[in-house]
Amino acid sequence: MAIAADKLLAQRELIEQTLQSGVRWLFFPCTVECMYEHDRERLRQRQLWKGGLLAILIYNLFLLMDRLMLPDIFFEAMVIRLGIVTPLMLAVLYGIRRGLPAHWRELALLVMNLVIIGSLLVMLDMSHYTDSIFYHPGIYLVLMFASVVVQLNFWFTLLTCLFTIALYVLIKPVPPGVPDFVFPTYVLMLVTTALFSVFACYTLERNERRTYLAGLLDQIRQLQLARLNDELRMLSYTDPLTGLANRREMSGYLAQLSKARQREEMGVIMLDVDHFKHFNDRYGHPAGDRCLRTIADTLQSTLRRKGDMVARFGGEEFVVLLPGGDLHIARLVAEKMCSAIKALRIPHQGAGEGNIVTISAGVAVGSVDLDIDEPLRLADEALYRAKSAGRDCVSA
Ligand code: GH3
Ligand code: MG
Ligand code: MG
Repeated sequence: MAIAADKLLAQRELIEQTLQSGVRWLFFPCTVECMYEHDRERLRQRQLWKGGLLAILIYNLFLLMDRLMLPDIFFEAMVIRLGIVTPLMLAVLYGIRRGLPAHWRELALLVMNLVIIGSLLVMLDMSHYTDSIFYHPGIYLVLMFASVVVQLNFWFTLLTCLFTIALYVLIKPVPPGVPDFVFPTYVLMLVTTALFSVFACYTLERNERRTYLAGLLDQIRQLQLARLNDELRMLSYTDPLTGLANRREMSGYLAQLSKARQREEMGVIMLDVDHFKHFNDRYGHPAGDRCLRTIADTLQSTLRRKGDMVARFGGEEFVVLLPGGDLHIARLVAEKMCSAIKALRIPHQGAGEGNIVTISAGVAVGSVDLDIDEPLRLADEALYRAKSAGRDCVSA
């Protein structure tokens, strides 16, 4: 189905209500009706095209029967069948082929059916050949054609049946010499055929509409499940406090890199906020959280290259991965990050020089296809050296 996911999700309630109401009157609310038409359009067009060609063939094959049953008006029958009705059927088929809008297409089919029925009744009425009475059951075929082959919707089938019965009774195309009981018998058979057609049509259409709605609901459920999965996946790979990638996402990314970019160098930076325990003690944990969020945003905005990643490694520690980067680049990025955090000038009384929040960084380099723990360990060792060197600096 080609309906956009959001549009479908927005209609969920309406679709459920429609399904609950039982589709008794064979109408959907406007938006759902549009979806229904849209979804069955192609199938219906193909079905009508094939059914239509078959109908034209059969309709004209009946000329052979006309020769036997309506010999007195055979020429007129030829003109009606080949000169009037067939061109009309072809025109309707052409319109369907060219993608006539659904409501016009169904209306055109209704008119076509009425014209076919009208043509048969006119031919029967014109003939005075007594045996033409045996030809009357041919009308039942047209009713079946409307409900089974063309599959007109229920209301149009009902209209076709009523029109046929009314016209048959009004015209009463009985040739001379036919016993009186024959016509009422034929009327009764026509009414019975009409009833069967209408009943079949109603049941089929109601089931089709119900199945369609159930299918839509199924699609909606699958969409919702898929979105929920995406959300859960997002949550499981994102650090809730800072919105950065968490350690799991970082590991996944490394595994991905080791497959796709084998033997490539990768710069690794390990960052740690200086004297952060003291920050929490002095300004409170919520202020500490805000500070971590600001730091995370700043680190993230420092990275420009596609493929670079910053993740929260845990607590007040962050890791930066720079695929394709060497030690020089890693050092440059780390220094840029330290300067960016300092430039924030977040007050931190007692943190040392400047009384502002600072970070320390350790950088290392490794190959993405080797054991990734190795460059991480090296970066961690370098970070330890940076801390020992007095903090607020980068060490390799
Ligand atoms: P150093 O300069 O040596 O890194 O000192 P430090 O105080 O930053 O390091 P230490 O490991 O002693 O303390 C880290 C602190 O980070 C302790 C903990 O309260 C704080 N912390 C870790 N995670 C969070 C968090 O999610 N929110 C807040 N507010 N604080 C956190
Ligand atoms: Mg720290
Ligand atoms: Mg730490």
